[in-house]
Amino acid sequence: MTAPAPRVVNALSVDVEDWFQVENYGAVIARERWDGLEARVAASTGRLLDLFAACGVQATFFTLGWVAGRNPALIRRIVAEGHELASHGHRHERVAAIGPERFAADLRDARHVLEDIGGVAVTGYRAPTFSIGPRSTPWAHDILAETGHRYSSSIFPGRHEGAGAPDLPLTPFRPSASGVPEIPMTALRPAVLRGRAIPVSGGGWFRMMPYAAFARLLRAVNAAERRRGVFYVHPWEVDPGQPRPAGVPALKRFKHGVGLASTEARLGRLLHDFAWDRMDRVFAAEIAASDKAPAAAPPGLAAAA
Ligand SMILES: [Zn+2]
Repeated sequence: MTAPAPRVVNALSVDVEDWFQVENYGAVIARERWDGLEARVAASTGRLLDLFAACGVQATFFTLGWVAGRNPALIRRIVAEGHELASHGHRHERVAAIGPERFAADLRDARHVLEDIGGVAVTGYRAPTFSIGPRSTPWAHDILAETGHRYSSSIFPGRHEGAGAPDLPLTPFRPSASGVPEIPMTALRPAVLRGRAIPVSGGGWFRMMPYAAFARLLRAVNAAERRRGVFYVHPWEVDPGQPRPAGVPALKRFKHGVGLASTEARLGRLLHDFAWDRMDRVFAAEIAASDKAPAAAPPGLAAAA
């Protein structure tokens, strides 16, 4: 009998933002109101930290600079407990919408406040709402390199809220000559679906699907393809008591609210059933390779490995 193959270690990530900063509420909650709303991110992120500690798991926290500046104790706890502190930008604006100059400023603002409070180098980045892509923001990875970032995990390789990229690689790749690797969200793209992707990475899908079905998909990624998964969760997804603003269209309300009461328990099962670690450790080889990237990578889709 042959020994079982070692478990594939997946990357666990948290997008640290408050309940009112989500794209689904963008039309009903103006950015100018954020400071007047009930802040719940410290408590809900604390629940995730408690859960990770109980499971002995370390994760990457892609944190909004806006949140960090208002919650320094939370940032220090994330670092003290051995997690990777990374950037979710500063103001949670869609990257394609703000353009290259404001994107660079947003990255610098977030990195400055995160590094100042956390006392560690911040080199990982996740775009708000997976809003970067080789076609919509071909300048994004060069700007990430210029602002000191070493990897991005910002692309959903399927359709997502008008973004995403159905034909992009499912594994890490270098979108630009800068060499900064893009580590996409996990998806399966079975031939039978003719290019359409099944997300296996978190969000509403994770909250909506029966747990066993989700676990089977992630097992297929890990076992059949020996591919590492990237999972993400938001603090507000383990906060069923959060306010529900009026005027949100039914579909957006559903996407935000489905399954909130059971997410923490499901996440506990997921942490138990699979192996997890920080992004920078799971993808250390790809990130290190980016530091000695060739000056001119082939356009588009050079493999990072
Ligand atoms: Zn976000």
